Amino acid sequence: MKKICSFHPSESAMANMFRRILAVEGIATFIRNERLGTAMGEIPFVECFPELWVHEDGDVERAQEILAAYKSEDIEDTPAWRCPTCGEQVDGALGACWCCESPRPEEDEPAG
Ligand SMILES: [Zn+2]
Repeated sequence: MKKICSFHPSESAMANMFRRILAVEGIATFIRNERLGTAMGEIPFVECFPELWVHEDGDVERAQEILAAYKSEDIEDTPAWRCPTCGEQVDGALGACWCCESPRPEEDEPAG
């Protein structure tokens, strides 16, 4: 197991999104230090930074490439598309929805 990256506590949603993105690519990940639910009010406030880890060490480089590509601003040639299944906007670099893992529809450009 290896850590890919960590997130600010306010970015825990992003950590989950990245986890799904990598799952679509077939990379198994898990999140450490994810903020616990508020069900237990006695948890003291501590800064816990969510960390994204891969199970297989060999997936680290690929995972980082995928995330780097996702964060990159240089992917304008592949416009984002909207998932017909769940309605989420999906980055153009992805061939499947990060949310529900539906494959990208073929030649079905949104008409506006
Ligand atoms: Zn979807």
